[in-house]
Amino acid sequence: MRCGDRSRYAHHAMTNTDHTHDPSRTSWIESANAPGADFPVQNLPFGVFSTPADESPRIGVAIGDQVLDLRAAIDAGLLDELDPETRCALHAPSLNMFMALGRDAWVATRSVVSTLLDASCPTVRDSDERRRAMVVPIAEARMHVPAQIGDYTDFYASLHHATNVGSMFRPDNPLMPNWKHLPVGYHGRASSVVIDGTPVRRPKGQTKADDAALPEYGPCRLLDYEMEMGFYVGPGNELGSPIAMGSARDHLFGLSLVNDWSARDVQKWEYQPLGPFNAKNFATTVSPWVVTLEALEPYRVDGPPRSSDDPPTIDYLQPAEAGAYHITVEVHLRSQAMREQDMPAMLISRGDFFDMYWTMSQMLVHHASTGCNMKPGDLLASGTISGPTDDSRGCLLERTWRGRDPLHLPDGTQRTFLQDGDEVILTGYAQREGAARIGLGRCRGIVLPAG
Ligand code: MN
Repeated sequence: MRCGDRSRYAHHAMTNTDHTHDPSRTSWIESANAPGADFPVQNLPFGVFSTPADESPRIGVAIGDQVLDLRAAIDAGLLDELDPETRCALHAPSLNMFMALGRDAWVATRSVVSTLLDASCPTVRDSDERRRAMVVPIAEARMHVPAQIGDYTDFYASLHHATNVGSMFRPDNPLMPNWKHLPVGYHGRASSVVIDGTPVRRPKGQTKADDAALPEYGPCRLLDYEMEMGFYVGPGNELGSPIAMGSARDHLFGLSLVNDWSARDVQKWEYQPLGPFNAKNFATTVSPWVVTLEALEPYRVDGPPRSSDDPPTIDYLQPAEAGAYHITVEVHLRSQAMREQDMPAMLISRGDFFDMYWTMSQMLVHHASTGCNMKPGDLLASGTISGPTDDSRGCLLERTWRGRDPLHLPDGTQRTFLQDGDEVILTGYAQREGAARIGLGRCRGIVLPAG
């Protein structure tokens, strides 16, 4: 496994870090201080959860292996420093209103919650009553899709992924002529975005074998995952008013892991001339905790440099600031037989979100460049995150090179594409010297047989 070239960390932006990023800080929730914890006090990701005792969805912040219930904290008067509008948005059953408020509200909330959870703050720490009322083990929480996603768009922003996939299907012409001029994407399906842990039924669809005269309808045979980064839109823009690169980051609330489940055989038959349709619309899994751009500030860097043979970037997509992020992403696979034999999941790839050709800001700005309105809670996803090496390829199509190089699982079986009972587990984290390690949690799904 490639461990990453440390020299790439030379140009950290670090312009907007504050006391909430201080790596020496700890929390009175001990599990948050464990080495390798995804949710230390420097992270503070937002999610929507409910409990068996109170089934109403509400906003929480993950800390260690616990959730701080923000609705309960507001009811107890612990967030009175925030303005009423922000408290109202945080009292809601989804994150849309909070996402709409923008960066000042996000920064203010982060600061107040950070203080409340800091090891030195007695307000909740020393009150059994408050702890009972507002601290819930993540293990007891049921997580919900964190926002009402009005629209979901999926991009195709990795040069490695686009080149690999293109060369399988069009060996002479892997990259389309537009690819380095604009972030290619398609409008996805918001209704089938599901939360971590939701089983995914193998889709049926129309496919056509190369040697068959006619297509047929039946269970997908070439089921795949795609390791992607998702990002939720903040305030967004009015219809008719594009977003400028200089303000793009103000419209990005935070990130979560996305698995864009893909039916490759369906895709191959249907994709021309209008792109993916049914091959992608049966399920898209998101991780429950949205890691804010504030939390990721220590990991923001200039994007990968363009090479001398790359075309110039048109002005409206020209970066106004560092807009790439170093985030390690991993894919793990666990078959049903591995689960039955208590074998751990197998790591099958590791990549870096930094390796994308287009940044989140460029994807957002291009999407809105016609005047298309982006709304709070809209979900954009990056496309498969693949790097330059074999083991950094973020889907099975590439990882097994269309089935030519099967993966060998510890249960003695091989994989070219996903089988029923397989569990795909995506994880992600950002880590470097001088900053706290923060994680994105997990994005999991088990494949069920076709219905
Ligand atoms: Mn995709």
